[in-house]
Amino acid sequence: MDPYAISKLPMQHFIGGVFTAGHAVDRLAVFNPARAEPIFEIPRGTAADVEAAVAAARRAQRSWALTTPSERSRLLYRLADSMEAEIETLVAIETLNVGKPRRNAHQETRFAIDLIRFCAGAARCMEGKAAGEYLPGHTSFIRREPLGIVAGITPWNYPIVMLAYKLGPALATGNVLILKPAEQTPLTTLKVAELAAEILPPGVFNVVTGDEVAGAAIVRHPDIRLVSLTGSTATGRIIAREATSNLKRVHLELGGKAPVVVLDDADLDAVVAGLRKGAFYNSGQDCTAATRVIAAAGIYDRLRDAVVEMAKAVRVGDPDTDDTEMGPLVSAEQLARVSGFMDRARATKANVLTGGLPGDPSGYFFAPTIVADVEQNHELVQHEVFGPVLTLQKFGTEAEAIAFANGTDFGLGASLWTQDVGRAMALSRDIQAGAVWVNCHDAVTPEMPHGGVKCSGYGKDLSMYSLEDYSHIKHVMVRHETA
Ligand code: ADP
Repeated sequence: MDPYAISKLPMQHFIGGVFTAGHAVDRLAVFNPARAEPIFEIPRGTAADVEAAVAAARRAQRSWALTTPSERSRLLYRLADSMEAEIETLVAIETLNVGKPRRNAHQETRFAIDLIRFCAGAARCMEGKAAGEYLPGHTSFIRREPLGIVAGITPWNYPIVMLAYKLGPALATGNVLILKPAEQTPLTTLKVAELAAEILPPGVFNVVTGDEVAGAAIVRHPDIRLVSLTGSTATGRIIAREATSNLKRVHLELGGKAPVVVLDDADLDAVVAGLRKGAFYNSGQDCTAATRVIAAAGIYDRLRDAVVEMAKAVRVGDPDTDDTEMGPLVSAEQLARVSGFMDRARATKANVLTGGLPGDPSGYFFAPTIVADVEQNHELVQHEVFGPVLTLQKFGTEAEAIAFANGTDFGLGASLWTQDVGRAMALSRDIQAGAVWVNCHDAVTPEMPHGGVKCSGYGKDLSMYSLEDYSHIKHVMVRHETA
């Protein structure tokens, strides 16, 4: 990695194709979580910055909407190619800013690039219902049109992937985009903006940096027709409420509390391997992370012992070291939050089998943690911890397993482990979630949708469904003389 490439990164908004300091008076520190040290400052965007971004987007909107799908596709492919050419820089920035192990950052950046390529292809495959005469002398047809100016508000756990989640479908369907990255992790978004400046027409993709001040201004702005948030359920509620004032569309991918239902015939080695990644990838800071093992009584003890052994073996450390599996949490705030959950848990009957405490104090590290003997109403079962904490529960009947799995406010991801196809089919039907994985956990692909039910939100990212969410259907009816 070229450290100079990072030091040159513009710490500014990207509006109308240029980087600009904008109107902000305040600046926000950006940290390296592995060293607990500030590395950059970004402008704390204001309503005036959002207004400037909307003005730039408005100027770009009509001509971008009128480009052919082929032309939009070509430019998105070029953007993906340019990200690929800069992949080492993007990976280095993501590792530095989020504390991700480098190989995870690599995998995620490749996924982001692949997703933009998927959207580039999908731009040319949007479908509408066939035209027809549904009233005598009238021909109807369907146009799929862009919404106009749309906004994406992204979280800090997967910055470059979330950028692709929002940018891909928004631009593919002819919208112009204002993106507000999380205040903690804006760096790869700014790097992609720098690349986009050479490829996309000015104003098609804009970035406003900052926190909830800029976010709230986006949600209030009457000319922004859709806000797509990936974030916490608390923020989703605020955005859904605020959006009622101008009835903009809201697309919400929120928290999760993914259950891992293990039946008595499951391949336990596969379960443990799945949990190693499912629970501890990205330090558990993932809305589809495996957080609650719900295991059949017959195999519970064996699984518990194997999971504890696995958690102790997870290699936690410097994200830049090749064999590191788990880096730090993203921020001091997140470390305090996860520590708070565990401090409170120790005061209950919950049994902390391993971990439960912060790790190396030179960064925001927390130990891989396994907790047994938790009741269904325990806060570790009910609330999103967003850290490397896995609870274990034992079930007797499958009905009880389903009651545990569905017994939270969330419904984003879930996994189910069994060799029996019939039980897998029945249980995957009964689990309330946007995605159910059978004999794997948290596998995503651009072709398949991602999004939840209940308090995990609504709307789909990824897949053709996301392109549908970023467009609207217009019925055009032409009256004419018929023979
Ligand atoms: P977390 O609590 O894990 O930081 P948030 O939901 O607060 O997650 O943050 C996700 C994104 O939502 C971030 O980009 C953040 O700046 C933004 N955000 C937070 N609060 C608001 C708000 N009230 N209105 C709009 N955006 C917000």
